[in-house]
Amino acid sequence: MSLNQTRMLATEVSCRYILDTSVYPKEPAPLKELRELTANHPWSIMTTSADGGQFLSILLKIMNAKNTMEIGVYTGYSLLATALALPYDGKILAMDINRENYELGLPVIEKAGVAHKIDFREGPALPVLDQLVQDEKNHGKFDFIFVDADKDNYLNYHKRNIELVKVGAIIGYDNTLWRGSVAALPDAPLRKHIRYYRDYVLEFNKVIAADQRIEICQLPIGDGITLCRRIS
Ligand code: SAM
Ligand code: CA
Repeated sequence: MSLNQTRMLATEVSCRYILDTSVYPKEPAPLKELRELTANHPWSIMTTSADGGQFLSILLKIMNAKNTMEIGVYTGYSLLATALALPYDGKILAMDINRENYELGLPVIEKAGVAHKIDFREGPALPVLDQLVQDEKNHGKFDFIFVDADKDNYLNYHKRNIELVKVGAIIGYDNTLWRGSVAALPDAPLRKHIRYYRDYVLEFNKVIAADQRIEICQLPIGDGITLCRRIS
């Protein structure tokens, strides 16, 4: 086995250890139910990992976040993790082009008693963000935004999100390691859709690291989450 393969195996074993020891035993019952329900869906690979959900939950609580947004819902794992972490009067503006998948998880969200916090909008997120930005009342309105959707639009989302979050608030961008492809050699064998979005993720990571309006921290949780804290 090569040194690289040994390292990858050690990372996988550590991730498994974290899930088994610290994440699954603490996973709230509604999230477990939603994760198991989603596992049978053909696109289940898209769901947020349980450690990602746990991380979002503790972050939102530390921040005392109340007014939030999510771009990219799928069946709602990160949405439910957020809804459970927010106070009773917390709000999530949630957007996805696919309502059907959201409705698959909705009964679990309703049973958990947190559906009243969610304002779901079906359709592309960008026009909704444009509409929000047009109204100055929405500037600095959000405590937290989680982006987990079309990677080729991350920079477009960032341009708008930065206007919409408060100074001191956080924007979390998911999949910034893009299945490890961001660090792969240029000629590494990659699946077609990984190769297609890789350049967008690389460009996003580069631009974000140079953006003077934010502090960042890229975490190797799930497929990589980059936290951006607005500082100006
Ligand atoms: N956060 C979700 C979870 O925890 O299960 C996973 C989201 S999944 C990786 C990405 C989602 O982005 C898909 O459900 C897809 O329909 C949605 N999406 C893709 N393009 C979009 C767009 N332009 N606007 C809004 N949502 C979009
Ligand atoms: Ca994701």
